[in-house]
Amino acid sequence: MRGREFINHRFNETPFLEDSHRKVRALAERFALEEGVIEENEEAARRLVRAMGAGGLLEHAGGTDLRSMAVIRETLAFHHGLLDLAFAMQGLGSYAIEIAGSSELKAQVLPKVRSGEWVAAFAATEPEAGSDLAALSCRAEPRNGRYVLNGLKTFISNAPIADIMTVLAKTDPAAGSKGIGMFVVLRSDGVQCSRRQEAIAYHPLGELTFRDCAVPEDRLVGRAGEGYKIALTVLETFRTTVAAAALGMAGRAIADTIDRVQERRQFGARLADLAVVQSKLTDMIAEYEAARLLVYRSAAKRDGGASRIPVESALAKLYATEAAQRIIDAAVQLHGGLGVTKESAVERLYREVRTLRIYEGTSEILKLVIAGNVLK
Ligand SMILES: Cc1cc2nc3c(=O)[nH]c(=O)nc-3n(C[C@H](O)[C@H](O)[C@H](O)COP(=O)(O)OP(=O)(O)OC[C@H]3O[C@@H](n4cnc5c(N)ncnc54)[C@H](O)[C@@H]3O)c2cc1C
Repeated sequence: MRGREFINHRFNETPFLEDSHRKVRALAERFALEEGVIEENEEAARRLVRAMGAGGLLEHAGGTDLRSMAVIRETLAFHHGLLDLAFAMQGLGSYAIEIAGSSELKAQVLPKVRSGEWVAAFAATEPEAGSDLAALSCRAEPRNGRYVLNGLKTFISNAPIADIMTVLAKTDPAAGSKGIGMFVVLRSDGVQCSRRQEAIAYHPLGELTFRDCAVPEDRLVGRAGEGYKIALTVLETFRTTVAAAALGMAGRAIADTIDRVQERRQFGARLADLAVVQSKLTDMIAEYEAARLLVYRSAAKRDGGASRIPVESALAKLYATEAAQRIIDAAVQLHGGLGVTKESAVERLYREVRTLRIYEGTSEILKLVIAGNVLK
């Protein structure tokens, strides 16, 4: 069996999915194949967002049908990390508005994000507030009918290219996590990408500086003091889809490895005929299958009406991202020298997968979430 044939087969065997999800997969697959070779630069990232809007993919970037979003991320990540990122950030950067924004804010922002006209970002992390988001110090002071934002955000995906961002800032510094608001900020409000940050794999990433950046009062999402809670809901929802991206990357590594070990001959035989190779490949497939079930069970539970999926989403992200790292490492090993060169996709996957264990909750923080829910 060829590698891609195997992955298609496993996708088709996935429980929890309906016909609509298979159609969405075909849409994402067609998009990725038509894009072909992906350029890794900011212009390409922006163009991809527009093309996804025109192609109808971004209609699924909200969190209303989490399985569709997961299917698309799995499919795009199979082809290239930047395809996945371009899609995912339109959802992550606007989901707060979808769940807690006023109808005016929704009408003003969501159509432009879903059409790809506006590139979106989600700005929470600060130099002194990473895993501990409640420690953030970016300030939003009410002044003459506006909120004036001052502070610095770091490691923000799409910081160099975003037109619109949802931003966490303190409205009441004395109130801890209950004194944080979520704001919609437009690039045209004066926010600056003050530094670009180069990651291990291509990712439009950088710092955002807010210096007396004034936004109208009605750009507050929900109520002042609700921002932290809204951010946790956004992260909880999207964690399942990060897990789906990890699944896509792991699937690509497995597909390419299946092909490689059947083609490559050493000692007069195919690598695929060696028991040690078969054993390694089987371990990869077992972890892949387990990750697949966790991802789609979590998404299906949410789609089935569960308002919260803290344990399911954390388990899915923890397991799928850690497993994808192991799977891709094994794929590089089975590719031999070819696996560390730019001629193989597994070299890129090896770099791309690394960040998934860090953003939207590190593996260590996810363990705290899971244990905290189990042991309460
Ligand atoms: C590629 C990339 C893209 C990103 N995109 C965005 C984005 O779009 N928007 C955004 O807001 N942020 C983004 N981030 C930031 C990301 O969410 C943070 O990096 C992450 O939350 C970890 O924070 P930190 O880097 O400050 O690490 P730290 O919080 O300093 O953690 C360092 C280490 O300590 C561990 N640790 C911390 N606290 C505990 C604890 N209580 N118990 C056990 N271990 C602990 C962590 O697990 C980690 O291993 C991005 C990061 C990366 C790498």
